Amino acid sequence: MSATLELAKQLISIPSVTPDDLGCQKIIADRLSNAGFEIKSLRYGEVDNLWARYGTKSPLFVFAGHTDVVPTGPVEQWHSDPFTPTVSGNVLTGRGSADMKSSIAAMVCACEVLLENNQAISALQTAGSIGFLITSDEEGPAVDGTVKVIEYLESRHEKIDWCLVGEPTSTNTVGDVIKNGRRGSFSGDLTIHGVQGHIAYPQLAQNPVHLFAGALQDLCNEVWDNGNEFFPPTSFQISNIHAGTGASNVIPGDLHVQFNLRFSTEITEQIIKQRVENILDNHQLKYTLNWSLSGQPFLTSGGELVEAAKQAIKSVCNIDSELSTAGGTSDGRFIAPTGAQVIELGPVNESIHKIDENINITELDKLTEIYLETLKRLFL
Ligand SMILES: [Zn+2]
Repeated sequence: MSATLELAKQLISIPSVTPDDLGCQKIIADRLSNAGFEIKSLRYGEVDNLWARYGTKSPLFVFAGHTDVVPTGPVEQWHSDPFTPTVSGNVLTGRGSADMKSSIAAMVCACEVLLENNQAISALQTAGSIGFLITSDEEGPAVDGTVKVIEYLESRHEKIDWCLVGEPTSTNTVGDVIKNGRRGSFSGDLTIHGVQGHIAYPQLAQNPVHLFAGALQDLCNEVWDNGNEFFPPTSFQISNIHAGTGASNVIPGDLHVQFNLRFSTEITEQIIKQRVENILDNHQLKYTLNWSLSGQPFLTSGGELVEAAKQAIKSVCNIDSELSTAGGTSDGRFIAPTGAQVIELGPVNESIHKIDENINITELDKLTEIYLETLKRLFL
């Protein structure tokens, strides 16, 4: 059994449902400490975080990841126990096998191999270091995790130059997709105020559903931007809409709408806010609108890290990987604002968060190779 598979199985057997770490980070810390890393455990609120660093010089490469996993869902629907890592044929099944205990195992093992090499050790002593930023709060509210560790690092003037987030980014085969950015995410919580009344006396009421109809159409038809080389166009989507008391003879007093925009680097949240409010004002609506920004868009359009990863994938898998910014937000959103080059590169994401989450174990070993080759290209 490969070292990566062994470590992945060890981590998967711990039921670290978000925000619990339950000792995963201790296992990782012990391995890294043996390989020569300095270890710092950082607990904020209910969340365990780990910062480990080998070397003191710049540039600093950081692997960012999380030990927490999403809940299993109905256990009886799994074909094997979600926290009993099960290998059948070429497939390892278990919660966290793709998202993202396997990536952590792959990078730990890649570093162990790298640091057996004297040339690598002397290169890191003179010019560079490797860090691990591991949280147990990625799948949850993400308040006491990566964002707090970044504050800690900034207070100590530890500046990340290159960050590889081990999220599962691949589509069909490991390495086919590298995420080099993510769209921003901006949400609105909107209440349209009308006047409640008897449905037979509409002249005495104001129906907020009717009042909102024109603005709804305008919001859906709005072209926010056209995207760019790296980002698809910004999209507006309604996630919830509700009005009415349940009675069939009452005009509702309020209409409640929740919506979200996934936005590109062609627009800002201030401009989005202004344009949404202009549309509502054009329809002379009375409303209350609360906004929340869960992440700014970020982009690493090129640089040493992107190149090293692409070349590593080419040498291990003989494929040309695609750069993409699609998908949801990740902890990269907290790291990119420090000025670091950020990419995400990990296993195939087809089964993540699902029943019977799994990873192909041949690909798991390839991922270890890709990580090792990336590090060699950056430091040797
Ligand atoms: Zn993840």
